[in-house]
This record gives sequence, C-alpha cells and structure tokens, in this order.
Amino acid sequence: MRVETRLVQIGVGRDTTTGAISFPIYHSTAYRHPALGESTGYDYTRTTNPTRAVVEEAIAMLEGGEAGFACASGMAAIQTLMGLFAQGDHLVVSLDLYGGTYRLFEQVWKRFGLSFDYVDLREPERLRAAIRPESKAILVETPTNPLMQVSDLSALAAIAAEYGLLLIVDNTFLTPYFQRPLELGADIVLHSATKYLGGHNDVLAGLIVTKGGELTERVRFLHNSLGAVLGPQESWLLLRGMKTLALRMERHQQNAFAVARFLSSHPAVSEVFYPGLPEHPGHQLQSRQASGYGGMVSFRVRSAQMVAAFLRELQLISFAESLGGVESLCTYPATQTHADIPPDIRTATGVCDRLLRLSIGIEHVDDLLADLGQALDKALQAGGDER
Ligand SMILES: *Cc1c(COP(=O)(O)O)cnc(C)c1O
Repeated sequence: MRVETRLVQIGVGRDTTTGAISFPIYHSTAYRHPALGESTGYDYTRTTNPTRAVVEEAIAMLEGGEAGFACASGMAAIQTLMGLFAQGDHLVVSLDLYGGTYRLFEQVWKRFGLSFDYVDLREPERLRAAIRPESKAILVETPTNPLMQVSDLSALAAIAAEYGLLLIVDNTFLTPYFQRPLELGADIVLHSATKYLGGHNDVLAGLIVTKGGELTERVRFLHNSLGAVLGPQESWLLLRGMKTLALRMERHQQNAFAVARFLSSHPAVSEVFYPGLPEHPGHQLQSRQASGYGGMVSFRVRSAQMVAAFLRELQLISFAESLGGVESLCTYPATQTHADIPPDIRTATGVCDRLLRLSIGIEHVDDLLADLGQALDKALQAGGDER
C-alpha cells in the first residue's frame, strides 16, 4: 500500500476487542498476567504500552526500520541514544545543529567524558578528516536547522561503514514522507515528533527508529532502562496527527515554494535558504536523496534593525519558537533556538543577527504572502544595509 494509505490507517483494526477505528488510550500502567509464565504482551507501561506501541510500529514501518521507540520529547530521544556511548567516546556532529542538541552535548555530556566535533558535513570528506580512533558515531541533520544545508547521506553512510561508526540522522525537518535515511544507509533515525509528525503544536514527543536486530535490542534496553518514554495520551495525539501527514506535508511544501520565491524578490531580503529553489547549492543532492523539500524557509534581511520591525508587524504569522505545525510560525534563531550557542560560533556558522526562520503552515498562500509582504515593506523603512 502507498504511504498516504498506510498513514491514514494507523491503528485501524488493532483493537480487536472492540473494533474501535480510533485506537483507544490505554492509561493502565499495569497489566494482569493470565498465569505464571504467561503474558498478554504487556506488563508495565514503561516497557510497553498498547497506545504507544501503535505509534512505534507506525514510525518503524514508515522509516523502513526494525523497531520504533517513542520518547517524551525529541531531546529525550537523543538522550536515550546517548546511552549507546561511554566515557572517552567521540562523536562527529553536523555544524549547523539544533541548539538544544548542541546544549545537551556541550553542557551535559562533555562532563561525562564524551567529546564532540562539529563539522560542516556538506563535504563528506570533512567527515573522514574528523574521525579519530575513539570515534563511535556521526549525528547528522539534513537539511540543517536553520541554514537548510544539505548533506549526502549515502556518502556519509559509506564512510561510516568503512570506519565502523553508527550513522544517526535527525529526520525532523523532512519526516519519512519526504526522506528515509535508513534506506540510504543510516543505522538510526530520530525525530522531534513535536514538529511535523505531531503537526498541530499540541504534543511534545520524540521518536527513534533502529535498523538491525542487535542495535534494536540495545536501544530497547536503553528506552526501558532510562524511562524517558512517551505517555499514552501524548501517544494518541501523535498517532492522530500522523494520519494527515501526507496532506499536510504536500501543502507545507507548496506554500513554502511560493514563500521562498516571494522572499527572493523582496527588496528587504538579501538571501533565501530553501532547498527547493534551483539556485540553492544543495538542490540537486536534495532532489536525489529525498522526494521533497519540506516546509522550512530561512532568509536574511538586509540589516539587523529590520528584524524588530518585521517581527512586530507580522500579524497572521506568529513570532514563536517551534516548527512543523499547521500554523505558520516565525523564529529568530539568534535569540531563540540558537541562543545557547556562543555568538562567535553562531555567527561563524551563518546564524547571524539578520537570519529569520519560517515554518510555513497550511493556511491559504495568498494570506501568507500578504502578511509577509506588509511586514517586510515596513521593515524596509527601518533602513540599513549590512550585507
Ligand atoms: C525541536 C527539535 C529537536 C528537539 O525536540 P523536542 O521535541 O523539542 O525535545 C531536535 N532536533 C530538531 C531538528 C528539532 O527541530
């Protein structure tokens, strides 16, 4: 069956006792055993929960992996995976990285003797140069947040295999609807399901998908042992959101194309970052390894003083710190998502004070363009040009 069908049918036919179309929320934390040595398959909700299991099977099926693991947040998913490593281990990580992941590594895991190198992985050979004898894994985002830089997952997977390293891909921005990293050679995929998979700005969740039996059992052990699992209510909200993923992603992308073209032509805007645009340096690669470009568009205005005016004037689009929901949001990475990255590193990677990031929602495109247009026109009056 096609992916659209499989998404809509998540959980249907699974509750055989009642035939419920919408899979029920099982709040029960404990499960009665029929007899000694017998089990219904459920014993304690941290280990397995019926509602959570529906989401976990769905994401494993969509990504083409062995098993899925639902976590309390995207950060909880990354934290769970950190249990694969030990003191002294080294990881190579995308340079342009979600700020919270950077903070977890630099402010928490460094204290436990792990080390991290942040590398611009657009050029796969830079990965080879960063690998050390103690390297254990590579963590990649593609396209990156917020600069939309594209890395070649097959090329990175080949180098990872050569050195026996795990390739972990944060697939939050594209979701399995547009990109399936396990098929390109990755070992683990993770998501902040708070974003597109949930899709409605109303549930915090993380997902992990693993490839291969041994790795799956190691992650299953960590998921249960660390206990940062997703609750049944959140699992249900997530599975409800996932049913409409295909429709939403198509509309996000359609609107994002129109917004990216509109921004490219506005005098207040100096650069637009959207991999769907043919002039984007990662466009060809993205077209090869994914079936779409997603709904995230970043851009630079011509001066930092235009930012405040632009954000003040936005009416329909909310100035808020998230992405992937049906409602359009605008984020200012310098003071929001990337505030924990030191300003010199942040500016060197391109996340400067003129950069804005849009999560394009599924509103009517004319309304989005009108809102952006009026806010940019007023921003232009703030003046300045720092290109
Ligand atoms: C939001 C986000 C995370 C963290 O997920 P939470 O659900 O907020 O904990 C990780 N990676 C990326 C790319 C994100 O956008």
